[in-house]
Amino acid sequence: MAYDSGNVFAKILRGEIPCDKVYEDDHALAFKDIRPQAPVHVLVIPKGPYADTDDFADNASDAEIAGFFRAVGKVSKQLGVSDAGYRILANHGPHAHQEVMHFHLHIFAGRDLGGMIKRFSD
Ligand code: 5GP
Repeated sequence: MAYDSGNVFAKILRGEIPCDKVYEDDHALAFKDIRPQAPVHVLVIPKGPYADTDDFADNASDAEIAGFFRAVGKVSKQLGVSDAGYRILANHGPHAHQEVMHFHLHIFAGRDLGGMIKRFSD
């Protein structure tokens, strides 16, 4: 998937549209989801131009990948959700309904999040 720098998260990274920032370092930016689906719903995005999980895994440097996941850990601690628990999720492609084509992880927390996913037979 080719990266399109017109996506909304690229605009947030460039400061063209605002976000409710939670954390930022050299590798990652974390901000509140505009349509929260849990009491805590934060998005963590890498600063580099990666469209989706495959693109990030294939093309990001080791430093970018390590820095990104260390940032996820820092965000969860900063949010104070580590002890009670949280869920991280990445949507990739049409079946997962990926909406924004800049790789990101969702962090959901703040209540019992229930089972992981609907069974395909449900
Ligand atoms: P996806 O389905 O791509 O994994 O999720 C994209 C997420 O980005 C959605 O949960 C959506 O609410 C969120 N989102 C879309 N546009 C914006 C925006 O302009 N600002 C913020 N903070 N979140 C957004």
